[in-house]
Order: sequence, then structure tokens, then C-alpha cells
Amino acid sequence: MAKRIGRTLPPAASPFHLKDIVSGIAGIFEGEGIVERFENELKSFFKVRYCFAVSSGKAALVLILHALHEICPERDEVLIPAYTCYSVPSAIVKAGLKIRLCEMAPGTLDFDFDRIAEELKNPRLLCVVPTHLFGMPADVERLKALICRGDIFVLEDAAQAMGGVWNGNKMGTQGDVGLFSMGRGKAFSTVEGGIILTDNDQIGQILEKRLFAIKGYGDLDSLKLFLNAIALSILIYPEIYWLPKLLPFLKLGETHFNPSFPIRRLSSFQAGMARKWSTAINKFKAARLLNVNKIARYGIKFPGVYRGSMPDLIRFPVLVADTETKKKILKKSEMMGLGISGGYPHSIDGINELRNLLGANKFPVAKDLAERIVTLPVHPYVNNDDLGNIMHLFQESSYV
Ligand SMILES: *Cc1c(COP(=O)(O)O)cnc(C)c1O
Repeated sequence: MAKRIGRTLPPAASPFHLKDIVSGIAGIFEGEGIVERFENELKSFFKVRYCFAVSSGKAALVLILHALHEICPERDEVLIPAYTCYSVPSAIVKAGLKIRLCEMAPGTLDFDFDRIAEELKNPRLLCVVPTHLFGMPADVERLKALICRGDIFVLEDAAQAMGGVWNGNKMGTQGDVGLFSMGRGKAFSTVEGGIILTDNDQIGQILEKRLFAIKGYGDLDSLKLFLNAIALSILIYPEIYWLPKLLPFLKLGETHFNPSFPIRRLSSFQAGMARKWSTAINKFKAARLLNVNKIARYGIKFPGVYRGSMPDLIRFPVLVADTETKKKILKKSEMMGLGISGGYPHSIDGINELRNLLGANKFPVAKDLAERIVTLPVHPYVNNDDLGNIMHLFQESSYV
């Protein structure tokens, strides 16, 4: 297919700039203390007693799963939505635990709660992972109400919802333990990074002990981070983003199952980059919310029923009529540089590498979701012309 040259939107962006990188370098000279300060700021903002900053959301997941498994060694299964980010099964496999999938409720990005009650009877179930996919709030309160037994943990995957608030609750703080990702394309980014939050003493103390034994970034890895930061700060601009998209080896926007990744403490360079995290998150959130509202005013609906205020989406998910419509929209978007993305290519049971690890159960709703979902960009670089073009494309494709 012909490649586009010219203004091209990335599907998601929480941009950082030269001044943030300079702040990161200053962080290196301030040393470990700056990571601790970042963690303390997060603790007081999210009102939790334990916070740990690590190298990625995946790393956060593995550390949390190990801690939960230490508390309940006889339980080793992790219940996740059948449609979610491939990093989640990657982390479960890396942690040496077993993946269990729960079907999604039709027309939503959340669990099918009619089925979850059955799953919760499983005596080997260690934890359930409600997930705020694209920032859409999962119903954590409903899940908690179903789990009356105290030995199944709620691990809130707020990887895509750092700073999100729903019904007055800060997302990431509603479960027994929660996580954020600061990877690229998330609500706030330090090139890569992950945050663990918990207010549970038992979980918090085990994590504290385990974190103590984990290494930070080596010199070479820090240099790589720095070079990545420079590259990303430049390439993310829509006027330039077409250029890295031309380079297939950068594998932009591709999603892979991969259980081999490092687990490190966040570096002082990243903590330095995050110095103004609160201001940055609010700024991005406000810009995204404007775009989310504009898209909603065009009459486009996201999956799920939400009354009142709009959720803090980082991408605007839409279920289109069928796979053909999805392909047509993605192809046009590619040609026009509109930043519409297809989400994750399969439901989790459709990942090849997991074929022998998962049972024969089918998840038709999750599969259908994967086949029909597209996400619209709402990040700060999306302007009114872009939204107009996206809406035009949608109308022309008679998407519903
Ligand atoms: C991105 C993501 C993760 C993993 O975060 P990384 O920082 O990329 O490792 C986990 N869960 C969800 C839902 C995500 O979107």
C-alpha cells in the first residue's frame, strides 16, 4: 500500500518536550531521592500508603502477582477480560501463573457479570483484573460486591487511566492493588514506566521487601531511555509522525504477546521527566475531554452506557458494523493520516502463543469486539479539522 507523506496523527500521544528531558537529566544528578519524592507525591495524591515506581506496567503486574501469590500460595489463576492489552497475559505468563479469561458483556469493554459469579467459585482463583480499557471505567464496585470472600484479590488495571476519575473515585485506587502505565500512548508518559498503588498493608509490605531486591537501570539502559526520549519527543508531532511510520523496523503501533521483559525500579531520569506529572496529566486530560465531547456531539457512541459526565478516555472506542467496515475505515484513515486504530488485533484466546495454555473455551463476544472495534484519537494534537475529517469518514462508511 502507498505510504502517506504529510501530517499524520498518532493514535495516542501524551507528549513530552525538551524541557522534560532536561528535567530528566537534572533528575540523574539528584539521584534516588527524586524517585522517592515522585512516589511520595503519588501516595499523597491518590491517598494510599504504598506506591512503587517501576520500569513498566507489565513489570508492575508481575510484581503485584508475585506478592499476591506469596499471600495465597495455593491460588495461582488470574481472571482477566477476554479482550485486553496483550501485556496482561504476557505478565501473567512471566509471573508463572495461569490465565483465565472471562467473556465480555456485549456492547461494553467490561466483564460479563452474569458469568463472573461462576468464575469466582474457582478455588484456585488468586485475583480478578478489572480493566479501564482506553480509559473507559470498568465497574470495580460491582465486582467488589460480588467477591464476598476475602481471599480473591481485585487487581485494578488502570494502565490506561492514570489521573482518571469516575463517580468521584480516582481510578487505580478502587481495588486491593492497582497499577498505571507510563509507556508511550498512555495517559502520561516517561518513555516507559509503571506505578503500583495499594493501601493494603500486607500487599504493600511484601512489595516493599521485593522492590528492595530489584535493580535500577544500568548505564547503557539509561542511555537508551534518554535517546528514546529525544526521538519520541520529536517524532510524535503530527507534522513528523508520518516519517517513523514509513520505517517498518520501528513497528509502531504493533501489539505482541511477549513474556520476556525486564523488571526494574524507575530511574531517576524518568522520575525527573515526571517532575510536573500532575500539571501534565491535567493538561492532557482537559484537551482529550474537549475532543471526546466533540466526538460525542457528532452522535458517535462508545461501548457501554454512561450517563452524565464523559469518562477520561485516552482513545475513543467505537464498535462499527462489521469487520469489512472496520477494514475500510482503517484503510482510509491510513491514507488520510487520521490516527484511527484497530485496537488489539484479537481477543486473548486468539493469540497464537497462548493456544496451548488456554482451554478450548470460546469467547464470541470478545472475538466480535476485536473484529469490530476502532479507536479514534483524542490526544492534544487532534484539532477540529482532524475531527471533521474523521466524522466525514465515519458518515461516508455508514459505520453502524
Ligand atoms: C499498556 C497496558 C499495560 C502494560 O503497560 P506497559 O507499561 O506497556 O508494560 C497493561 N494493561 C493495559 C490495559 C495496558 O493498556
